[in-house]
Amino acid sequence: CGIVGVLGTHQVSPILVEALKRLEYRGYDSAGIATLHNGHLDRRRAVGKLVNLSDALVHEPLPGKSGIGHTRWATHGAPTVTNAHPHRAGQVAVVHNGIIENFKELRAELASHGITFVTETDTETVALLCEFNMREGSSPVEAARKTVARLDGAFALAFLFDGEEDLLVAARKGSPLAIGHGDGEMYVGSDAIALAPMTDQITYLEEGDFAVLTRQSLEITDAKGNLANREMRQIKLEN
Ligand code: GLU
Repeated sequence: CGIVGVLGTHQVSPILVEALKRLEYRGYDSAGIATLHNGHLDRRRAVGKLVNLSDALVHEPLPGKSGIGHTRWATHGAPTVTNAHPHRAGQVAVVHNGIIENFKELRAELASHGITFVTETDTETVALLCEFNMREGSSPVEAARKTVARLDGAFALAFLFDGEEDLLVAARKGSPLAIGHGDGEMYVGSDAIALAPMTDQITYLEEGDFAVLTRQSLEITDAKGNLANREMRQIKLEN
């Protein structure tokens, strides 16, 4: 029910958890984060309150300076650790707000290629489809773009890729998403409030936007695939 992403210059686990705390008002039943450490994706997830995720991170810390996080309000699949985000398929990790309406069709299509599922969620389909596109030869960004083009429903998504420490992809259709600009850092969040401790420089994605973030750059394309110029605003937020 809330998503965050950070391409940072410090350890991101505590930053992600803090950002998720700021989205607690939206309600959730489970939470999780994924980071890249030495180029490798890893994740921690927990059912219930964010403190359970924090506890899991104390026992098994998750190092890394690039990461995504999620608080889940289950719509497809029970609130279990397996169904908690981030979802992972091979080189791809995904967090998702909303509903993928056509996930059953996509699931059947992937199953016809021998791809198997481990969760009951609509979201896992997104990770698997993106991974499939990469295996077919697409770059991470193109694989994500092709994936998002196939999705019906209302959603906000953030993708992180194995081996890509300086890349975060985000897409918005029906659920709000804000990009935050830091000093050599870049962020994404369902709500600018989540990003308030890091920055007040915000670019709001518009309906159908697809964003490619690095620490130094933000490239947004609109629903038609054309480069879009979205205004960066300085917003006033209570810390
Ligand atoms: N439909 C997804 C799920 O049930 C995302 C729900 C959400 O927005 O948290 O896992």
